[in-house]
Amino acid sequence: MMDQPSFVIHPEEAESAAKRLGVSVINLLPLLVTPAKSLARPPISKFPVAAIGLGSSGRIFVGVNIEFPGLPLHHTIHAEQFLITNLNLNSEPNLRYISVSSAPCGHCRQFLQEIRNAPEISILITDPNAFRDNAAKEGDENGFVRIETILPHRFGPHDLLEKHIPLLLEPHDNNLTLSDPDLTNGHINSDVSSNLKRTALSAANRSYSPYSQCPSGVAMVDCEGKVYRGWYMESAAYNPSLGPVQAALVDFVANGGGGGFERIVGAVLVEKKDVVVRQEHTARMLLQVIAPNCDFKVFHC
Ligand SMILES: [Zn+2]
Repeated sequence: MMDQPSFVIHPEEAESAAKRLGVSVINLLPLLVTPAKSLARPPISKFPVAAIGLGSSGRIFVGVNIEFPGLPLHHTIHAEQFLITNLNLNSEPNLRYISVSSAPCGHCRQFLQEIRNAPEISILITDPNAFRDNAAKEGDENGFVRIETILPHRFGPHDLLEKHIPLLLEPHDNNLTLSDPDLTNGHINSDVSSNLKRTALSAANRSYSPYSQCPSGVAMVDCEGKVYRGWYMESAAYNPSLGPVQAALVDFVANGGGGGFERIVGAVLVEKKDVVVRQEHTARMLLQVIAPNCDFKVFHC
């Protein structure tokens, strides 16, 4: 595990690794940061970032940064956003601790606000230069500080949403159905096609879009027939929102065994028709650049 951790580490595995090293599970998080950096894909910056999170279930999750040559920089997936997507794809209900190799950027501090009780999440930045100011004095016995220390005066879901609305990571169902429920869609390879359509619909049903009410989901298949999925996740500040293709790429990187994105040969996007926030054009452009052989289809719900 200490050479190259997997993207999800189960509690028993985490506990036995911590025991072997003579540390607590919480203190294992910063020790996983450096080995996890080898999982990052930063061909533009050559600056790998890793974020390690401990969820309320006791599972440890890994996030890394992903960059896309040939596309504008704002398509980049930051390590913290990868981490949150990884938690969400694995139905983890909350994030308690996070350790990250470099100080989180403003965009990621903002995106973390979508998690319930975000100010109470504990964070440890392993870069020794990160806490040269007096913030370190406020750290707990393990050196972690609360997120509110690094993002005071926050703007977030509490400014825009009613209290009862489920936040990111909290279970909800968007109750979407396809406008055209024909899952075969007239294709010869109808098994793959209907599976992708069904998977994209169920991803869209888990999409977190409380600000626009425009949920969407993506399913992708690689050249070996393995299917990945992801859904759109919004931020109260809009720009840090993560698109459904990026979320599915997190699933691909976490579960695809390390191959390049050109291995993606098919993708389906499910979203509402004629709404104010649409993913179709960005999704098509992104996939065209990173996976030129990808057959991309859109279905409406
Ligand atoms: Zn960031």
